[in-house]
Amino acid sequence: MSRSVLVTGGNRGIGLAIARAFADAGDKVAITYRSGEPPAGFLAVKCDITDTEQVEQAYKEIEAEHGPVEILVANAGVTKDQLLMRMSEEDFTSVIDTNLTGTFRVVKRANRGMLRAKKGRVVLISSVVGLLGSAGQANYAASKAALVGFARSLARELGSRNITFNVVAPGFVDTDMTKVLTDEQRQNIVSQVPLGRYARPEEIAATVRFLASDDASYITGAVIPVDGGLGMGH
Ligand code: NDP
Repeated sequence: MSRSVLVTGGNRGIGLAIARAFADAGDKVAITYRSGEPPAGFLAVKCDITDTEQVEQAYKEIEAEHGPVEILVANAGVTKDQLLMRMSEEDFTSVIDTNLTGTFRVVKRANRGMLRAKKGRVVLISSVVGLLGSAGQANYAASKAALVGFARSLARELGSRNITFNVVAPGFVDTDMTKVLTDEQRQNIVSQVPLGRYARPEEIAATVRFLASDDASYITGAVIPVDGGLGMGH
């Protein structure tokens, strides 16, 4: 059965791997992108998730082509790393506006169709640092930790409507986001990961796809680490 899937930030990195995993399984996949040429093979809608009007417009386009979104993967996210004393209010609020409020915007809009359909799957992409903390990433870690409370509240609010809300917490993954780290930082991180390496984006995608599958029908409010063991115990 081909389902209507939306992956925010599905034009590159982890989001693109997730979009490919659903498309390979035969689902109808829409992705959001902000600029440039989006990858082929998906319904690509231009959308900045910090703008409620653009979110509304994107959903209208997707609904016209694929029908209401049945599976939402809120993946789009940013970092603006800085030590607290040097972190501007804009560094803080812009990361929250994308990672947390942006997720709120897309989840709220998706829920309209899910409530009507009396079913839905929502997967939020958090991060291991949301629970572990990370020096220089107070804004990012706070936004990612907040997604857990957000998802668990909605799991309680909407469980009776057959809508599940789960969180995937990746460790360090090879994408543009982590390319900015120096070799020394990278080695330091890898030395703390029991599996001794970064994740491939496809390894995150496999877990997301599982959470959207029939096999995960009784899982909601869960936080699933895909971090090579980095966050064990948190
Ligand atoms: P990338 O930097 O490679 O990609 C980020 C994606 O988010 C891009 O598609 C980008 O779109 C999109 N995006 C950012 N801001 C907005 C916005 N305002 N509106 C719409 N889309 C936006 O990151 P990754 O693929 O590495 O990360 C994907 C998710 O996984 C993020 O939430 C990240 O926090 C999380 N994560 C990543 C880890 C890692 O090690 N890489 C570890 C743990 C979590 P555009 O191309 O238009 O900029």
